[in-house]
Amino acid sequence: NASRLQNKTVVVTGATSGIGAAAAVLFAKAGSNVVLAARRAEILKKVAEQCTVAHKESGLSAGGKFFTLQLDVSDKSQVASFWDKIPHDLRDVDILVNNAGFVLGVEHAGDIKDEDIEAMFDTNVLGLISVSQLFVRHFKSRGSGHLINIGSIAGREPYAAGSIYTATKHAVHAFTASVMRELVNTKIRVTEIQPGMVETEFSIIRFRGDVAAAKKVYEGLEPLTGHDVAEEVVWAASRPDHVQVAEVLVMPVNQA
Ligand code: NDP
Repeated sequence: NASRLQNKTVVVTGATSGIGAAAAVLFAKAGSNVVLAARRAEILKKVAEQCTVAHKESGLSAGGKFFTLQLDVSDKSQVASFWDKIPHDLRDVDILVNNAGFVLGVEHAGDIKDEDIEAMFDTNVLGLISVSQLFVRHFKSRGSGHLINIGSIAGREPYAAGSIYTATKHAVHAFTASVMRELVNTKIRVTEIQPGMVETEFSIIRFRGDVAAAKKVYEGLEPLTGHDVAEEVVWAASRPDHVQVAEVLVMPVNQA
């Protein structure tokens, strides 16, 4: 029941594109307030405008506050000061969607450059962990909250030419499942969403800007959209307080 999301405050990382942008818009539509975070400040503003439109169209009076905050989750000092930059009326955050992440390159393990390995781990793992720590502390102090981490099917099934990304998403899975167990006697919920193939900017980044190669990945199947995955995020967030959706694996019907 999406009405449970009315007047909730949600923070979404990686809100400029794909799953994150779609989730921000869906929360807006459901009457939530949203803090949108990512590195590209100008695009964040455009997504916030889409949130405003979606909220108006919903006709709901609940929610409707949208705030953009530039954040590189891999920069520890930016994460440390993130909290202080959230306006006071949006600090009672109920839900964190830890979505920022990427895969860079298709090289085999021995050929991957150190800088690419570090970049993927810094964002997908260390960044996700630092942002989780910040908000789990907050959820503990207010007595409730919902941590939603975007993992991947790659966190369950390794694939060739994706060793580092696969390793990062296995780490996301292990971290998320452990935190869920640590919080078992609290009113803090933890969810991991594990998407299969989703057509977003993700594949373009993976192929370092080669749009044709990025597109080829989806040949022979109908990939998910960011919206499809965002619907799962919003669904998990809108279950009753005593229901913990631990994991959601969602993939195209014709993905092997
Ligand atoms: P997109 O590339 O469309 O979106 C990724 C988002 O992450 C962007 O908003 C980007 O914003 C942000 N981001 C990247 N690095 C950072 C950083 N260091 N700090 C803050 N924000 C960052 O991809 P998707 O929407 O597809 O990906 C979202 C999540 O879903 C990722 O964690 C990805 O691993 C996961 N996923 C995707 C799948 C797919 O097939 N697309 C499959 C399984 C999982 P900006 O550049 O403005 O910072």
